[in-house]
Amino acid sequence: RGGQAEKEIPFAKPNSLTKVYAVASGKGGVGKSSVTVNLAAALAAQGHKVGVVDADIYGHSVPRMLGASDFPTKVEDMILPPTAHGIKVISVGMFTEGNTPVVWRGPMLHRALQQFLSDVFWGDLDVLLMDLPPGTGDIAISVAQMLPGAELLVVTTPQQAAAEVAERAGAITAQTHQRIAGVIENMSYYLPEEGADPVYLFGQGGGQTVADALTRTLGAEIPLMGQVPLDTRLREGSDEGKPLVLTEPEAEASKVMISIAEKL
Ligand code: ADP
Repeated sequence: RGGQAEKEIPFAKPNSLTKVYAVASGKGGVGKSSVTVNLAAALAAQGHKVGVVDADIYGHSVPRMLGASDFPTKVEDMILPPTAHGIKVISVGMFTEGNTPVVWRGPMLHRALQQFLSDVFWGDLDVLLMDLPPGTGDIAISVAQMLPGAELLVVTTPQQAAAEVAERAGAITAQTHQRIAGVIENMSYYLPEEGADPVYLFGQGGGQTVADALTRTLGAEIPLMGQVPLDTRLREGSDEGKPLVLTEPEAEASKVMISIAEKL
């Protein structure tokens, strides 16, 4: 008590009952944050206690997508995270001024992440989702060090070029010895209207390619957990802070996200 030592991370304790998933992608713009937010909302709607750490320093968009407009409050030495749709959320964006771009370097990020995990009052969570920055950067290694039990969810589009970079983001687990829960393909196809033939705007097969390649590289079966179609309502929902899985649970994109959440 009263010491300056780093506080321990509750999720890193061997008896922690919280499942931690780090959502990763090879590059930006593939829908990693959209997937994180909709999975979080689906899990919360299924009755789980859910927290989200937005560690995407370049694109921290999770609070807006969840409609979490409040700032964290401080009580003694704990940070109380704001809540939206029953989800506790903390973001690097809540600790920067205005829209100032974040130019933090590796060690600072590591410290910020350490604080998000140890100083934030999360309570008893069933699931913690972490939205990682795109790529195979320092943060993925930090997460592996702080939370060796965290599992990776790899998000990709169907495009083969995107699949290659996504595979590299996943292959880092060969070094960090983390488990990959599965691959999620986003923007898989577009249905111009009910019953129409799907249009494959970004090609086909990227998700399966990543799952197969990671299965070969890691020597463990890595499943393709779902293929989420393009849906303009998904983007609109994100812009308005209302995840599609909550507003339109019957939309195909929602059904896929909900079925993935059930597997977590
Ligand atoms: P990332 O986190 O990988 O950078 P985002 O989740 O921010 O990607 O998504 C990039 C953009 O694409 C956002 O405007 C988002 O609303 C949109 N988007 C993502 N997935 C879909 C989808 N399945 N259908 C329609 N728009 C999508």
